[in-house]
Amino acid sequence: MVRAERVCKNFGALNVLKGITLEVKRGEVLCLIGPSGSGKSTFLRCINHLERVNAGRLYVDGDLVGYREKNGKLYELHPRDAAKQRRDIGMVFQHFNLFPHRTALENIIEAPTQVKKLKRADAVARARELLARVGLADKADAYPAQLSGGQQQRVAIARALAMDPKLMLFDEPTSALDPELVGEVLGVMRELAASGMTMVVVTHEMGFAREVADQLVFMDGGVVVEAGDPRELLANPQQDRTKAFLSRIL
Ligand code: ADP
Ligand code: MG
Repeated sequence: MVRAERVCKNFGALNVLKGITLEVKRGEVLCLIGPSGSGKSTFLRCINHLERVNAGRLYVDGDLVGYREKNGKLYELHPRDAAKQRRDIGMVFQHFNLFPHRTALENIIEAPTQVKKLKRADAVARARELLARVGLADKADAYPAQLSGGQQQRVAIARALAMDPKLMLFDEPTSALDPELVGEVLGVMRELAASGMTMVVVTHEMGFAREVADQLVFMDGGVVVEAGDPRELLANPQQDRTKAFLSRIL
């Protein structure tokens, strides 16, 4: 579902991604960990067309992201085609990013009605299903400010699912939450993983990574330092940088 081959990204003179190679198979969950500034968000943003890679190749479901290839040369994708690819990718951010002046339900039906041109009644029915799935059937008419952080994040997950994505990206989805609200969001993510969704999750929730992830990748300084089975990697990290990082967060 995701294949990164020596992906590089720089902002001017700052090389943020220095050749990321990894693969996420359909139905797999990959957890990405690493110190602040190591390039985790930038990597997710490249997958989701919010940044364009400068070198290397990035594929989602077999499609080159951001470029098309012709006679061995790469051409930047037309924004219309990039938007089409992006529709199939759901992203959940640390700070929820819900529209504050719209209810939970209105937040969820926005993209399906505007982008997918779904009939409002169909979008509403689907939104209610998704609200029930994230445990918020009774909050359809609540505004974000009336919801806890954990509830807002669950609405944000429902909103992403409303576009029927084939891939879900999570960028520290529980980092902004009070500790007692973390579990309810991780619970929804756990169920999503169990349902077969392909997921890339930037998180420092090691319990979640250990139990849910198929792969754990430790990034530092724009490179993959170490990757593997989460239980093995956590129990027996091979690289000094991984050991130092884990000893700081565990
Ligand atoms: P992480 O998510 O691992 O904390 P980021 O991907 O957010 O790391 O950032 C990696 C580095 O890239 C940081 O040094 C950050 O300041 C820099 N960076 C991220 N986005 C931009 C941008 N749009 N312009 C310039 N520098 C950026
Ligand atoms: Mg980040």
